Amino acid sequence: MNLHRLLSSEIMNNTTMLQSFFIGQLYTSEHNALLEKHRTFIAAATLDCAQAFYEVLLNDPASKRFLTNELVENQLKGDLQRWLATTLSAKQDEEAVLKIVNIQRHVGEVHTRIDVPMSLVNSAMSVIKQVLFNDIQDNQAIGCHEKTELVILLNTLLDSSLSLINESYLEGRVNNERTAQEYRNRSTAHEIAIEVERIRGALFGWMTQFMADLLSGTQQRLINIHHQEFALWIRHKLGFVCMDDRVVNKIKHNLDELQTSLDALYHHPDQQREERVQKISALTNECGWLLGQIADHNIENATREDALTSLIERRFMPPILQSETQLAIKTNTPYSIMMIDIDNFKKVNDIHGHQAGDAVLSSIGRTLKRSLRVTDYAFRYGGEEFMILMPETALKNAERAAEKLLDKIRQTDIKIDNGRLLKVTASIGLAAFDGHPDYEQIIKHADEKLYEAKHNGKDRYEA
Ligand code: GH3
Ligand code: MG
Ligand code: MG
Repeated sequence: MNLHRLLSSEIMNNTTMLQSFFIGQLYTSEHNALLEKHRTFIAAATLDCAQAFYEVLLNDPASKRFLTNELVENQLKGDLQRWLATTLSAKQDEEAVLKIVNIQRHVGEVHTRIDVPMSLVNSAMSVIKQVLFNDIQDNQAIGCHEKTELVILLNTLLDSSLSLINESYLEGRVNNERTAQEYRNRSTAHEIAIEVERIRGALFGWMTQFMADLLSGTQQRLINIHHQEFALWIRHKLGFVCMDDRVVNKIKHNLDELQTSLDALYHHPDQQREERVQKISALTNECGWLLGQIADHNIENATREDALTSLIERRFMPPILQSETQLAIKTNTPYSIMMIDIDNFKKVNDIHGHQAGDAVLSSIGRTLKRSLRVTDYAFRYGGEEFMILMPETALKNAERAAEKLLDKIRQTDIKIDNGRLLKVTASIGLAAFDGHPDYEQIIKHADEKLYEAKHNGKDRYEA
């Protein structure tokens, strides 16, 4: 295998290129000949391997999260057999090597989506090896020397495949973790915004009460502002919430000044009364305004929403789909998804302009949000494509939701520039969770159904 030729090929990224190169080294002409010679035997052995592999896996309690007996029988055993046969077959050229590298990387990606623990895959691989090597050992037709050669070669091939799988699994995990982390951080920012708003409310509530007491003459005591809940919060928490020291110090300074004015008003009720009351009000207002800024800033950070449609950005989909899939398996309640694509949207852009197109998108975003249950998730999937995830919803109910949604979209008048009104329709593809732990499958099904809906005349759903 020529490294330079591989490196100069444009279709591969760097990681894949190097991996292909190293794996390519394994397929020498002698090795290829050995694999070819025992092809039938290896193919037969893969059946024993698949059998033993899933027996061990199904006995592991950790596998319950993503495996069922039916799934194993109907699909996974066959998949594993095909995978083994491909992995352990001769590779005559670069293209075949690249293909096997991509297959292994794909397997790793699927494991990420299903969230299969790496340790489980590794120990299952040792089961495969054991069965495979026993079969070789028991085979009378293979000579002793060749047996050793074959065991070493198959062992190396399986190890290199496993490391490719694990590597791409880990890459996927790191990405998922990052997105989940970001999602969590952002919801915290949202909570912070709510808390700051609450403190701001308490501050203004205090001032209103203070003014009322002052006017009615019931304000007799000396007030210690620092004992108020909002002041405690400002002292202890504001610094964590707001990274801008100047703002934090300004608010704290205002509270101190507020106390000075309150003291003066109490001790000298008849001196400069009006100015002092005005100052108290101004200081409080300024604190309130600054807190409002902090809340706004946090809301801005909290937003994981797509700017145009106010729906969740697509990049937040994987961790959400993953946890919903696991939940569906655990609780044995299916979720459904809707793939939505606006009909003839290019025409909207062409006839009315891109801005009108954008207005349509944001109107659809509002319609989607309004017609969903609070537990549903609405994502902007692509340009004018949306995906709705409906937890604990069987296909029948999803169909009803789709019907309602189509109706709402059909009836909505969308205001574009000059106050002109526009109506659009959409097509929907529906799919329900069918027990497959890889959520890409359900997306694929919904996509196919969407295609059918378009094909069957648009402004309709297919399930
Ligand atoms: P179909 O009924 O088959 O879906 O036909 P269509 O015209 O809607 O075709 P398609 O779904 O392929 O059209 C997608 C178009 O959406 C292409 C692109 O110009 C437009 N688009 C994608 N994103 C945006 C956006 O953010 N704003 C606007 N105005 N247009 C967008
Ligand atoms: Mg489209
Ligand atoms: Mg479209």
